[in-house]
Amino acid sequence: MINVDKIREDFPILNRKVNGKPLIYFDNAATSQTPQQVIDVIVDYYSNYNANIHRGVHTLSQEATDLYEGARLKIQKHFNAKHNYEIILTSGTTHGINLVASSFSSLLEKGDEVLVSALEHHSNIVPWQMLCERTGATLKVIPMNEQGELIMSDYEALLSQKTKLVFVNHISNALGTINPIKKIIEMAHEVGAAVLVDGAQSCPHIKPDVQDLDVDFYVVGAHKMCGPTGVGLLYGKEEWLNKLPPYQGGGEMIDQVTFEKTTYAGLPHKFEAGTPNICGGIAFGAAVDYLNGIGFDAIASYEHELLDYATQQLLDIEGLKIYGTAKEKTSVISFNIQGIHPYDIGTILDKMGIAVRTGHHCAQPIMDFYKIPGTVRASFAFYNTKQEIDALVEGVKTAKMMLS
Ligand code: PMP
Repeated sequence: MINVDKIREDFPILNRKVNGKPLIYFDNAATSQTPQQVIDVIVDYYSNYNANIHRGVHTLSQEATDLYEGARLKIQKHFNAKHNYEIILTSGTTHGINLVASSFSSLLEKGDEVLVSALEHHSNIVPWQMLCERTGATLKVIPMNEQGELIMSDYEALLSQKTKLVFVNHISNALGTINPIKKIIEMAHEVGAAVLVDGAQSCPHIKPDVQDLDVDFYVVGAHKMCGPTGVGLLYGKEEWLNKLPPYQGGGEMIDQVTFEKTTYAGLPHKFEAGTPNICGGIAFGAAVDYLNGIGFDAIASYEHELLDYATQQLLDIEGLKIYGTAKEKTSVISFNIQGIHPYDIGTILDKMGIAVRTGHHCAQPIMDFYKIPGTVRASFAFYNTKQEIDALVEGVKTAKMMLS
């Protein structure tokens, strides 16, 4: 059970006003808010431990290293990776995807095929297009239906011995669809293809078990799960990470350097060139602790309650259409009101202190599918309330009246 009043006390930002009104934050799919417990860790790091890691013999460096590597272990446990060296700390979801796409160049050739889902964020499309341009491989798209679900029979038909990679998000940021990734992975593996799952949107709602999913790569950004920006996770199966060449060269990722030849460090350092976001990594660990303290079952059931409550009320507004009505869906509502531009609704809601996202949500192919320029997106977190949803519904009604 979620004690939302108590939880809200953890988030100082929820006390602030925007345009003279109490902030109602419904842009959680873009970035989640940060609890005091994580803010405290950031302040503590810079107040007491700030030093470069891994290469110092002095106390501060060793303490910072212990905290950073301790965070890696927390993240490993949370995602249930088999080994801590399968946890590569990145600067975020986009970085993780680019790392895999870049390193995969050495494993693809003309005639190979890679499959992307129609539901992807641009971050999980563009790096693969670039990979195809470099290698001559072909990008094919797993189509979606009107409800915003992937068409699994079409996916099955696209899979062949030529398929080398499949990339799909766990949850769509634009529509909230939860994809059947376990099945998707199983089917890809039957033809010998590797799968990268973009977990940017699942990580605040679901606790993924990478071993149970048998996923090859799983990427996440800490700022979607109550952690800071500029840090994230690339989980890779050991066998894949060993097969892929390094992504960037520099300090930390080497074993021996001479002008004739450089040998590389083992995992995870092979993929972690340069000074990492040390404080961010430690705070990522703290965010994982914080969310587990609340519990993912409690989070999921409360957010579902919010989703159902908001969906019912919004659908009562005449002319309002919700995009993305998948059976398996998380707490994201993308909508439009007939004849009104989403940007105008977002601007009026902001005047009321209500933060929603408007536009294409970095998923232009989804907008093209529905033949719309964009949507208004309200995305709920476990610290939101039904009263806030009431205010959103009233706000949307007012916006409709003003703009019609
Ligand atoms: N994939 C999905 C599904 C996302 O929602 C986002 C963030 N909106 C990203 C990738 C990219 O994340 P970031 O910008 O934090 O790297």
